[in-house]
Amino acid sequence: MLSKTTWALTKGNDSLAGKAFKAKYGNFLNSSNRSLASPIWKGLQWCKETIQVSTCCTVGSGSTISAWFDPWIPSMDNHKPSPRLNVLQDPALKVHHLMFFNPKRWNIPLLTTLFEQDTVHNILKIHLSQADFEDSATWTPSSSGKHSVKSFYLTDQHNRFQDHSDIVWKAIWNLKIHERFKLHLLRIGSESLPWFSEVDAPCPLCQTSSDTLDHLYGDCIFYRVAWRESPWDLQSSILPSASVKDLINFVACPPSTLLPSFPPKVEFSLYASITIYLLWNSRNDVLHIGRPADLNVTIKKIKRSFVEHSQIGHLPESHPLQLSASQIPTGPEWDILTIDAAWNCNRSCLAGTMQHPNDPPILSWFQVSNEEKPLQAEAKAALLALSIAGKNGSTKIWLRSDALQLVDAILHPCNSPWEIRSIIVDIISALNFFSSWACSWIPRSENVLAHDLSQYGSKSNFPSLCYFQGYPDLRHSVTGTLH
Ligand SMILES: [Zn+2]
Repeated sequence: MLSKTTWALTKGNDSLAGKAFKAKYGNFLNSSNRSLASPIWKGLQWCKETIQVSTCCTVGSGSTISAWFDPWIPSMDNHKPSPRLNVLQDPALKVHHLMFFNPKRWNIPLLTTLFEQDTVHNILKIHLSQADFEDSATWTPSSSGKHSVKSFYLTDQHNRFQDHSDIVWKAIWNLKIHERFKLHLLRIGSESLPWFSEVDAPCPLCQTSSDTLDHLYGDCIFYRVAWRESPWDLQSSILPSASVKDLINFVACPPSTLLPSFPPKVEFSLYASITIYLLWNSRNDVLHIGRPADLNVTIKKIKRSFVEHSQIGHLPESHPLQLSASQIPTGPEWDILTIDAAWNCNRSCLAGTMQHPNDPPILSWFQVSNEEKPLQAEAKAALLALSIAGKNGSTKIWLRSDALQLVDAILHPCNSPWEIRSIIVDIISALNFFSSWACSWIPRSENVLAHDLSQYGSKSNFPSLCYFQGYPDLRHSVTGTLH
């Protein structure tokens, strides 16, 4: 809860409390610990350090971001620029002062005057969208950039989690269950579950054995009955009981040998997570608020919760990323753009092909580039393809990529990962330039031409765009003779 409040203050939200805090304490991220600050404010400082290193502004118009004092350069360690020697850090300097306009681009001479070479290099990696959208603060550890308690928790607990590499964090992560249940599994796995118990106290639920985590998720009658009462009538002995960690891993990725296809993996993980969560709750209810343990009530609660949550989980995907057979463009007026990008930490290569439906490519291209991340390279490849199609006079285009995240971001721009948001804005405006467009995901196997071309291009020495009629013969090396 505290982390949410801190985040709201960072974003400079308009709530009254936020305004009052701002009036009294100024900008939260730039503030230092004040000795006379209120206890609430001091409480918020608890989250500050984590928020600070994990926040980065997304440059839209750049008019509200302080060039020196706000974090806005994703590839710098603290997201802030380093000044050149003897340069004064003018607090009034905003990021939009560092740009030229029409078209919008970085003012390289000015950047070079103000910042160290490394900073300039990293600023130039930031894609400036031609559209003016509002600057925003972004929570960097989660890819959507939206702050959530979960991602805060993970960042904060990062070091602790590193020590438990035998836990399959990623699998817990990807479970399609409510965050509340996930968080509980994560806390058990990282041994951070607050477990207050007197020495030798009996289990609050069954009153027979000792009150330990291993008992609660092992031989406690509540746990065993919960499994027998599951939709699959399971013996709790099929679950690992030697260590809670094994149990968590088992819940996150149930082995297919033990559970061939029944019960379905997703539902099994959901039921297990709910059971593990609600048993802990029931135990705490007895211990802390004195509610008597009731086996019947507890099992009913688990079943009801399972029904509720599995209904939510069964909603169909609202936007498939692949076109159905009836949606696939067939007319010769359509140009199909298939794109790919090769990427390594030094350079990337953006490639693509253009073809009419059921025809071989009429054009293909690659361009060496340097993007910070593979996803950025994929997005730039899309933008390059669209600009080529525009110059080529295409009117209807179908953009295809094997990068799920990119296609998802184009079809649902509101959820686009923050590191490609400004590129996505430009992709959308480029798409709207055509009279019709479609965008879809294709499997790797349908993307070999663009893929091979990007691999090939990444080994070439061409500094600028290479452009071919048809598709080039890749058996020959490109060392300056092709064109
Ligand atoms: Zn018990």
